[in-house]
Amino acid sequence: MNASQVATRELSFYTGGTWEAPAGAPFHDVVNPATGAVLARVPYASAAHVDATVRNAHAAFLSWRETPVVDRVQVLYRFKTLLEAHAEELAQTLTSENGKTIDDARAEVRRGIQMVEVACGMPSLMMGDSLNDVARDIDCHTIRQPIGVCAGVTPFNFPAMVPMWMYPFAVACGNAFVLKPSEKVPLTPTLAAELLDRAGVPAGVFSLIHGGKEAVDALLRHPLVRAISFVGSTPVARYIYKTAAAEGKRVQALGGAKNHLVVMPDADLRKTVEAIIGSAFGAAGERCLAGSVLVPVGDAAGPLLDLLLERTRGLRVGDGASEGTEMGPLVTREHRDRVAAYIDAGIDEGAVPLCDGRPLNTHEGFFLGPTIFDRVTPEMRIAREEIFGPVLSVIRVRTLEEAIDLVNGSEFGNASSIFTSSGKAARTYAAKVEAGMVGINVGVAAPMAFFPFAGWKGSFFGDLHAHGKDAVSFYTEQKVLMSRWF
Ligand code: NAD
Repeated sequence: MNASQVATRELSFYTGGTWEAPAGAPFHDVVNPATGAVLARVPYASAAHVDATVRNAHAAFLSWRETPVVDRVQVLYRFKTLLEAHAEELAQTLTSENGKTIDDARAEVRRGIQMVEVACGMPSLMMGDSLNDVARDIDCHTIRQPIGVCAGVTPFNFPAMVPMWMYPFAVACGNAFVLKPSEKVPLTPTLAAELLDRAGVPAGVFSLIHGGKEAVDALLRHPLVRAISFVGSTPVARYIYKTAAAEGKRVQALGGAKNHLVVMPDADLRKTVEAIIGSAFGAAGERCLAGSVLVPVGDAAGPLLDLLLERTRGLRVGDGASEGTEMGPLVTREHRDRVAAYIDAGIDEGAVPLCDGRPLNTHEGFFLGPTIFDRVTPEMRIAREEIFGPVLSVIRVRTLEEAIDLVNGSEFGNASSIFTSSGKAARTYAAKVEAGMVGINVGVAAPMAFFPFAGWKGSFFGDLHAHGKDAVSFYTEQKVLMSRWF
């Protein structure tokens, strides 16, 4: 091979503590969305690969659960140090395969590290309750025990952070964990797994496999997998929830979103516009917390849209790896075309485009500029369906009550924000809105690692949410002990 023929890197599975090139697996390209260049090739696991990985994980679980929690978290302390040392490499890898800006990628890596930091507190988080003399000479206390092999299936849009919503908590609780990240962005989770390996995680306690539906179905049906954590689109979340529950597994399935941003006439318009830009066009709209419907109330619309349009037209769209880029490309050509088709649909349905991102659609990579539609009505597809791209639909309403009714009419209930200087309006909105995460003068209401990620309605299937104390409950089984000594 000469210097100009550099072989494309082929990824492996991390299973039973070793990196394995899986025999007979088909490989698919991993593509840089800003350039269209092939970055690597990812193998897809078969049901047989999944079975071997889960069996290794189960064997590892049997001794890991007996390792004291104070020793288990030492692995995570070392992992955190390695993540800090490699944070920039992780962020650059993330931008290269996902397309988000390097600043966004750095922020995502930071959020991931915070998950590890919180999971390091597991000796306190796992404590049970205790009460002596619940009856004469009888004491009662609860303990939390790990449940076994847990699996995680994650989406393309947060390849560093979303897997870390899961495995640091699961592993610190004493479980073994098998991660199947999005096949579109396998490089960031691979780098994180290499660091976890260097941190000394025991063989089989953490495993990484790649693939698509066949691998996921094998995890859903494997008798040794006790719990499934899923994050992705609503149709797949619903399928995961139903299938895993029918197999008797514990399941948390986080789905898609259609988030509304309500702006009252008394809002601080300049700050509100900055928040809207970040929410609607940050990460090219590929966030489950992205603002997708803007709801100006009463007189707010005129001045708000003037300012918003001016700022949107000045957005710097380009390769996320270049410092100063404000919006990168969409993740794949197919996804870019799907989002562009929503712009066509909006125009067909009679919405008025104030700016149209489609002309940018000519670059090498999978670019689409920001689009804002005015005069959108609630029944239009662009008002109802998750687009997952830089398209903002404006629905004008007359009153706060009308805004709340509109938001609560959505099938989704992930997040919603209100912008106002009125405490009363904010309080009313927070109380009445049917969404699990509410922003008050905050455009992306993303809970920190020590709070739960709390979607509602069609945005979440299950009861215990991701990270925070919910993660500790999800990844442990409770036992109640009653004791009497004669
Ligand atoms: P996706 O549903 O297409 O894929 C998610 C995961 O499921 C991937 O690992 C994929 O391989 C697997 N998968 C896809 N189709 C499957 C099938 N038919 N059967 C079994 N497994 C399947 O989602 P995506 O496009 O990677 O991510 C974007 C979606 O994720 C958006 O809808 C977004 O709102 C959502 N999301 C939600 C949250 C949240 O916290 N609620 C966070 C991030 C992303």
